[in-house]
Amino acid sequence: MNIESQVQLKPFNTLSLNSIASHYVKIQSIVDLQQALQFSKAHDLNVLLLSGGSNMMLPEHIHALVVAIDIQGIEFLSEDAESKTIKVGAGQVWHDFVLWTTTQQLYGLQNLALIPGLVGASPVQNIGAYGVEVGEFIQSVEVYDRQSAQTLSIQAQDCHFSYRHSIFKDDPDRYVITHVIFKLLKHADLKVNYGDLKDAMMDDMSAENLQKQVIHIRQSKLPDPKEYPNVGSFFKNPIIKQQEFSQLIAKFPNIPHYPQAGNHVKIAAGWLIDQSGWKGKQLNQVGMFHKQALVLVNYADATLTDVRATYQAVQKDVFEKFGVHLEPEPVLYNELGLIKNH
Ligand SMILES: Cc1cc2nc3c(=O)[nH]c(=O)nc-3n(C[C@H](O)[C@H](O)[C@H](O)COP(=O)(O)OP(=O)(O)OC[C@H]3O[C@@H](n4cnc5c(N)ncnc54)[C@H](O)[C@@H]3O)c2cc1C
Repeated sequence: MNIESQVQLKPFNTLSLNSIASHYVKIQSIVDLQQALQFSKAHDLNVLLLSGGSNMMLPEHIHALVVAIDIQGIEFLSEDAESKTIKVGAGQVWHDFVLWTTTQQLYGLQNLALIPGLVGASPVQNIGAYGVEVGEFIQSVEVYDRQSAQTLSIQAQDCHFSYRHSIFKDDPDRYVITHVIFKLLKHADLKVNYGDLKDAMMDDMSAENLQKQVIHIRQSKLPDPKEYPNVGSFFKNPIIKQQEFSQLIAKFPNIPHYPQAGNHVKIAAGWLIDQSGWKGKQLNQVGMFHKQALVLVNYADATLTDVRATYQAVQKDVFEKFGVHLEPEPVLYNELGLIKNH
């Protein structure tokens, strides 16, 4: 295990923020992880878990031990007539894993192709796209519990998966995800009723085509972080009470909305941002993308301060126009490597 000091994290976060970590280590096993945690205790450092860095906002300096997860491996565990279970190391690249499942004729994850990041981070915010959330295909999550200093297996129902949420978000200092156990289908049960997918799938209803179309649609709409550094959808789609929504739609009849359980309605954050004049608009080096208002882009060498100035200005304008608060999706850190409220 090689603990490095004063490491530049710019290449390791997709928003391309300059961020110098006082301590950095890459771990490839649970033993490495235990050693890294011992080091952090001995040196009184907080621990910041880093996977693909595609859902985080980092300050310019971090006095903490950044632990980059690089646990590899894919292993078949069991199968029945309908499904196969597979254990996947947290450090596997998510998109490559999805492509591999399709070549193995295992189905379920195709709608989630091309989401950046690593497998171990996928349960954290229960990644979702095109009508599918990863939690639907997770059987259990293997973690190292920092509280009890033990490895544990947490069943999917105990992960409390919901929209962009899980217990791992509630308890970020407790669990380090080391492996994810997926239960994937042997026979495709395609979900194609979301967004532009239906039309694109008309001629070929195969899982291979579904994956291809998802990749194609995403490439045509979302900026590539290598060209336009970003963290994907910057704000969550707000979920509001039906009563509140009735007042809103009376004033804004075109508002895109999706009914939710428990008398709630999800509204499209991108539309609210667009209608507030922020699509394609910049404040200094940071702005909302011209093709997709929900994506915040670092157009030059922005710092976290610049990013916050822009997203807070967007929040203010949307709130003034619609009375709706937009909550950012990526995780925000402070100088001590701790998660901060936005
Ligand atoms: C262009 C683009 C498109 C995107 N599209 C989508 C989308 O369609 N749907 C969607 O849901 N998200 C999307 N995202 C967001 C992001 O890709 C996902 O949230 C992804 O799962 C983050 O993975 P990561 O490996 O980059 O995690 P990181 O950004 O490294 O980490 C995210 C959080 O998880 C924690 N974490 C990471 N690894 C572990 C671990 N092993 N154990 C415990 N905690 C851990 C980190 O500490 C941090 O708090 C997109 C991002 C980009 C840049």
